Amino acid sequence: MRLVLVGPPGAGKGTQAQFVASNLSIPKISTGDIFRANVSGGTELGKLAKEYMDRGDLVPDEVTIAMVRDRLAEKDAQDGFLLDGFPRNVPQAEILKKILAEFGAGLDLVLELVVDDEEVVRRLAGRRTCSQCGRIWHVDFDDKKDDVCDACNGKLYQRDDDKEETVRHRLEVYQEQTAPLVSFYADEGILVGVDATGPVEEVTRRAMEALSPYAG
Ligand code: ADP
Ligand code: ADP
Repeated sequence: MRLVLVGPPGAGKGTQAQFVASNLSIPKISTGDIFRANVSGGTELGKLAKEYMDRGDLVPDEVTIAMVRDRLAEKDAQDGFLLDGFPRNVPQAEILKKILAEFGAGLDLVLELVVDDEEVVRRLAGRRTCSQCGRIWHVDFDDKKDDVCDACNGKLYQRDDDKEETVRHRLEVYQEQTAPLVSFYADEGILVGVDATGPVEEVTRRAMEALSPYAG
């Protein structure tokens, strides 16, 4: 299956991507994770991306698209993948369509995680990420007081771009640039909305149910 997850920052894309990709045995490709790995590795790509990420702006399309094109060409992505955080605007969606057409493929489904702004702010304010395995936690919902990852014992950190001001800007960027993807994919007939409120496992169940008619 070739899947895309869309939804505002904090909707739970990364969280659901972990479970959905693992249930379907396909690689999870998160552009945010790839950028963050480059930032912490001090690569040229990381240096370039950091200034945009810190402001909560999108990294320029040409850079992002080249990175995704390379990743999709890797062996493990040939039979399917779950994209988390890409595409993030209509030009990226159009190029993705072309890239997949070069492989003779297309997207099967786009899952839109639907959650209101108030919940998004609550989720982002408490988000913690494992510096070792990348797993996502929440201080309140997962009762994380100790800043240690239950999965690998790595140290948890708070992302720089989860500061309140930057969060507000990221939500504006989402409304202006990313939300139009919802009608773009609805017009293509491959959009399915998933209620992303309630417990994580419940959202995963809804996502798997939405996918079941398409999973071979
Ligand atoms: P969230 O899921 O909280 O919105 P991500 O981890 O997906 O955050 O992305 C973090 C940042 O990485 C974005 O604010 C943006 O600067 C950059 N980024 C990630 N994906 C893309 C993309 N497809 N195009 C441009 N920038 C991106
Ligand atoms: P995104 O990738 O869309 O930005 P994340 O998956 O990083 O979102 O989730 C944002 C925060 O919300 C994280 O702290 C995560 O633990 C928490 N979270 C995700 N899904 C839920 C849920 N269903 N209920 C409560 N908190 C959630």
